[in-house]
Parts: sequence; C-alpha cells; structure tokens
Amino acid sequence: MEEYTDVKKLFGCDVFNDRVMQERLPKKTYRELRKTIEEGSELSLEVADVVAHEMKEWAIEKGATHFSHWFQPLTGVTAEKHDAFITTPGNDGQILLSFSGKELIKGEPDASSFPSGGLRATFEARGYTTWDCTSPAFVRHDAAGGTLCIPTAFCSYTGEALDQKTPLLRSMEAVSHEALRLVRLFGNTTSKKVTPCVGAEQEYFLIDKEKWMQRKDLIYTGRTLFGAMPPKGQEMDDHYLGTIRQRISAYMKEVNEECWRLGVPAKTQHNEVAPAQHELAPIFAPANIAADHNQIMMRILKKVASRHGMRCLLHEKPFAGVNGSGKHNNWSLKTDDGINLLEPGRTPHENVQFLLVLTCILKAVDTHADLLRESAADVGNDQRLGGNEAPPIVISVFLGEQLQDVLDQLISTGTATHSKTGARLKTGVRTLPDFMKDAADRNRTSPFAFTGNKFEFRMVGSRDSISNCNVVLNTIAAEAFREAADRLEKAENFDAAVHDLIKEYAAAHQRIVFNGNGYAPEWEEEAKRRGLPVIPSMVDAIPALTTEKAVRLFEEFHVFTRTELESRAEIQYEIYGKAINIEARTMIDMATKQIIPAVVRYTTVLADSINAVKAAGPVDTSVQMDLLLKTSKLLKSTNSAMGKLSRVVDKISSYKEGRDRAVFCREKVVPAMEALRKPVDELEMLVDKEMWPMPSYGDLIFEV
Ligand code: ADP
Ligand code: MG
Repeated sequence: MEEYTDVKKLFGCDVFNDRVMQERLPKKTYRELRKTIEEGSELSLEVADVVAHEMKEWAIEKGATHFSHWFQPLTGVTAEKHDAFITTPGNDGQILLSFSGKELIKGEPDASSFPSGGLRATFEARGYTTWDCTSPAFVRHDAAGGTLCIPTAFCSYTGEALDQKTPLLRSMEAVSHEALRLVRLFGNTTSKKVTPCVGAEQEYFLIDKEKWMQRKDLIYTGRTLFGAMPPKGQEMDDHYLGTIRQRISAYMKEVNEECWRLGVPAKTQHNEVAPAQHELAPIFAPANIAADHNQIMMRILKKVASRHGMRCLLHEKPFAGVNGSGKHNNWSLKTDDGINLLEPGRTPHENVQFLLVLTCILKAVDTHADLLRESAADVGNDQRLGGNEAPPIVISVFLGEQLQDVLDQLISTGTATHSKTGARLKTGVRTLPDFMKDAADRNRTSPFAFTGNKFEFRMVGSRDSISNCNVVLNTIAAEAFREAADRLEKAENFDAAVHDLIKEYAAAHQRIVFNGNGYAPEWEEEAKRRGLPVIPSMVDAIPALTTEKAVRLFEEFHVFTRTELESRAEIQYEIYGKAINIEARTMIDMATKQIIPAVVRYTTVLADSINAVKAAGPVDTSVQMDLLLKTSKLLKSTNSAMGKLSRVVDKISSYKEGRDRAVFCREKVVPAMEALRKPVDELEMLVDKEMWPMPSYGDLIFEV
C-alpha cells in the first residue's frame, strides 16, 4: 500500500506563508509586513532585514542552500539565478550563512539577455528584481537541492517593466481604486480593497518520453509539424472525464503533492477531450498569486512527467485534428471583507450594484475587445483559436438566459421587474434527489462567459502566462468603473442616475453579447456585421497594443507607458518570427534527413518487389505498381514543397526583425509549411509503418 498522505500537513509545508511569519517574526515586524502586504505601505530596510533573517533560518531548516529571485521576464518562462547563502567573513576559511534585507528586496540580474523590445540597449544591461511580498516565498526541492524562491518583479534601470508581474500588480491597484469608488456610492464604507481573483484551469498532454525523443518537432517546437490522423481520434468522446489510467493517476498524485507542498491548491483533475489530454485546476487566488501558482504548476507538471518516463506537452496545439490545450482564466472581483462584486444574488434585477458592475464590464470588453484578443495571442494559439474547439477568434460575452432577460427588460422598458429562476431538476427517478437548477445553462463556445459569479476567459493559450489577460481585464474594468464613478459621484439623484447609466451601457454595448454557438461559421459574418473585431492571428492582434486608445488607457492607469507598450509589441513580433523560423527549419530538417530518405527506401523496396515477383513468374504486380506510382508522386510533391519552403525560409533574415519579419512569416512561411505537411501526411498513410521514421499520432496519443 502507498503510504497515506496527510494533506493538511503537506499543504504549504514549503511556503513561508502567513502562519510561518506569525510564528517566526517578532510581533512588530509581522505587523509592519502585514501592513505592506494588505495596504501597500512602504517597507523599511529594518523590517526587510528581520524578515530576511527569519526567512533564511526557516529555509535552511527546509534544506535550502541557495536563494533565488524568481521572476517572469517576457520570454514566456520563469527565470532565476541562484546564490548560495554562504559568506566568507574572515580569511580563516570559515563560512557563515547569511541573507540580508537588501538581498531579499533587491536583485540585480544581468538583464541584457532578456527581451526588452528596444527598451534597453545591450550596454545598459542593468535590470532589477524587487521582492513581491504579496506572493509568498517558497523552498523548491529538485536535483539542485533546496532553493529559497522569492517571487519578484523585474524592471529596467530606468524603471520600465521588463516582466509580466509588474504591470499585473499595477493593474490590480488600478482596478481596486476604481471599484472602491463604485461600492462607496452604494453605501459601502468598510471595504478597503478590491482584489481581482483568478482560478486558472490548466490543460496539458502527456506522452511517452521514449516516443517524444524520436520526434524532432516535439523536441524543438513543442508540437508535431507532421502527422496523419489515426483511424480513431476523439470522436467517441470516451476520453473526456473517462477513468484515469493507473500510470496517469500515479503521475497526478505526485503532481498534487508537489503543488500542495508549495501552497498551490490543486483541486480538480480529469481527463480532457483529446486522447492523452488532461486538466488540473487550483482553487482561485488573488491574480498575482494565481499567476505565480500557474507558473509553479506548469513546472511541476513537466518535472513530474519526466520522473514517470513521460513528457508533459503544454503547447496549445501539439496534435492537429484533436483538441488543443488552453487555460480558462476565471476572474472575479472581491472586497477584502469578502463581497464578490460579480455575485448576482437570487434576484439580479434588484441588485443594482451588480447590474452596474456587469454593464461596466460589457462596456469595457466591447471597447477593448482587440486588447483582450491580443492578450491571448501567441504563436501556438494561432493553431488553436477558431478551430471549432477552443473559443473562436472573435471576442464576445456570454451572459446566459437569466441575465440576458434582465438586460432585455432594462433596454426595452427601462426597468427590470423580475429575474428568471432555475426550475427544479426532475430526473424521473424517485430515489434521486431533486434540486434547483442554476438559472442559466453553460455555453462552452464563448470566449468570455459569465458563469454564476465570475467571468471565464477561455482564450488563453496553455503555455502562456495568465498575467497578460488579467492586466487587460483589470485595466479595462478600472476604466469603465472610473467613468461610471465620475458620473455618479456628481449626480444629484443617485438612484435615477445609476438606473440611466445601466440602461445606457446595456443598450450601447449589446453587440458584444452573444449567447449562441460561437463555433458556427455564421457567427464570424454576424460579428463583422456588428462591427466586432475579427482577428485571425497573433500578427494581426499585436497592433492593438499600440493604438492611441490602448496607450491612453494604460498610461492613465500607470500600467504601461507608451514606450513599454511599443517594446512589448516589438517583442511579440520578434517571438513570432523566431518561433516560425524554428518550426520551418525543423520541418526542413525532418523532411530532408528522415522523411524523404525513408520514402526513397520504401519505393526501392516496392520496385525490388515488383522485379522479384515478375521474375518469379507471370504474376500480377499491379498493387505494388499502384503503390509505387502514388508514393513516387507524393515524394515529388514533397520535394517541391520543401524546395519552396527552403526558399522562403532563406528570405526570412532579409526582412527587418520585428513587424516586417513577422508579417512575412505569417504570409509566406506558414502557408509553405502547410503545403509541405500535406503530401507528407498522405505519405505516412501509404508507407509501411515499419519504415516510417517516427512514431505516429496513434503511437503518441493512444499508447501513453
Ligand atoms: P467549472 O464549473 O468551470 O469547473 P469551478 O467552480 O470548478 O467551475 O471553477 C473553475 C475555476 O474557477 C477554479 O479554479 C475555481 O477555483 C475558480 N473560481 C471559482 N469561483 C471563483 C471566483 N469567484 N473567482 C475566480 N475564480 C473562481
Ligand atoms: Mg471552467
């Protein structure tokens, strides 16, 4: 028997959390630190010194030898540099273990090798990491031993954000400030802070490591660039929520335990739609902590897979023809005293504050749909979005029957008098308990769906940081709240003014609401008629970052400066160009060194067989001949498609890095890649499996 896991003991055992701080820190220090965490007051170096000392003592007890400022640069992955706690105070060969307040609050990684989009010339390499005391430090155990990881923000010498976290923290402050103004108008005098809360459901694939090693495309790009569909895909829906096999269960158990140790409240796990696809969701947390949790979780998913002889694929579309992976970003706004501003209550038509918040969000999403779309744009997501599985490429909001009805009443008659309620669910079986249904059903095709007391943004890619979309959600909500507060604070008759405002917003932004099937091809046409942005690819999405509308929005709330936005757009273009370049080169490499030689061998086998059979006597060789002709024809198409791809790839570097190069990749390289894939996938269906130079889709996703 496996030994029994005491979850309560395990949870957070490697985290320097509030309980540990209370136990370890002198009362005065604890109080001051809490004040900084809760109210954002400045942290003195004396407090930092005491905290650092206790943190070090605690970390050493946990087996840590090193500390590391852990940050999230714009590479899309986390970064860290490890320093041992040792110091050598004298010349006597003795060491001390030390960690100062200064080392805790400030780090200085050489920043010249991180993407900055032109923000920082290479010779001005200075970048600083600063302790984010609102996200707890933790000790991570791996092959390197124990490392005290300190969540930090990363800025340039001149204070520009070079990471995902800084703008997220800025946007959290902005939305808190404006949301508080709104709730004050409704007589709330007690709440001190409004925090965006986020729960990110993470999808992933697991495949066998031995097979992964035989696929250069998976190794270099994270996705398959070739691959014919096996006879069976996901059409039977037998994987979704299916029984989890033992090999996977054992993996999930360890993932959960590692997450729990680090305070990541991993909660829900299940098999997803595609074969070999799974999902893990933690309990929601404040947005910056949720973003950290998600990074920790992705790392654990990968690390534990390795231990189990598997690879965890976080790419948005590892396999064509079956569902890709995303991240559902559940988002709500909570006051420090526990009020969820997105909680409609049983009678939403009477909940004026909720209706105001809701219509503000409609306005925000309608006004900045392009930015929200951009926040989910990444190279892998181009393969996934709009593919009849993940959300479509058009941003819209799903409200559900109940809220739609309330808004309809408001728009048509000016007042909402009733809310539809959920009926009793009758199963027709007496032994099954009846219960009240929710007032609205779900819609799985909407990119931004109201799900009871939160919005679920479903567009984010599975590899991507959730920071981007939350920066956008927080800031656009802040803007709408501010505008509403500006008007309502001046109103003579508050009740009438708020009523008018809700009606005005609901009517003006109706077009963003879509409760129908987002996968239907008609929807894109309808969206165009409504004037909603239809943005097919990452390259088309990036310009949203630098429109005057975006610059004004982000500058007003001090989330991004114009320069920061321009640099981010530049980085996005660069990432796109580089990723496509790598994918194209990988295809050429595989086609040249593996696929074409294998097909040539196969045609030789066929030709030899024809000759041998013919020599043996008057026997029919038409089957072999037919195969040989088909194969040779496809081989020729492959070779010519490869020639074309090589020629466009050679031209990539002649385009200026940034937008020009990205546009060229999107317009010329991507189609040439698709053209090469087609004959190769057809060949895979013809060529003797024994001779095909890599594991097939069937081997990869059905035999984990
Ligand atoms: P679903 O029905 O979509 O599976 P769940 O209740 O399981 O919904 O929640 C999915 C994710 O949403 C989880 O990470 C959960 O913690 C998170 N979540 C639940 N309530 C909220 C909320 N009020 N704000 C933000 N996230 C939430
Ligand atoms: Mg969900």
